[in-house]
Amino acid sequence: MSKPIGSNVGEWRVGHQGRDSMYYEEFHDGEWRHLRLAGEMLVGTPHYVIYFGSGDDWKKQPAWACDRRDEIIARIKSACPIPDYRYSGEGVLGESDYAYLIEAAGGLDETLCAWRGCNAHAVHGMCLCVRHAYRDAW
Ligand SMILES: [Zn+2]
Repeated sequence: MSKPIGSNVGEWRVGHQGRDSMYYEEFHDGEWRHLRLAGEMLVGTPHYVIYFGSGDDWKKQPAWACDRRDEIIARIKSACPIPDYRYSGEGVLGESDYAYLIEAAGGLDETLCAWRGCNAHAVHGMCLCVRHAYRDAW
């Protein structure tokens, strides 16, 4: 396991584990509890995607982490921020992420999202709105 890339010293830590996974650990009762998440190296920016999966997938995580998906994902996101990282998973992107992605792309265009039934404005240089442009299958 590599050195953590983010942590709250003595409480939790996040890092890469090989090429294709991330670890998240928390210190409880004198020992580190471990969580493994799938990921993948990418070329360019973002350089890595973290697969958080669906809310149902998360229920397969250890009991200590099961009911704390939002809290744990928020910590991992803080250690692995956009745009260096990309996130795939149900409900992982929040309003502040969308605002950042729109700003980074240069704002919104006059044209509407090409997604059927969507009336949001497309992200500059894309044919989709921010929600559809960054929508991942999981
Ligand atoms: Zn859309």
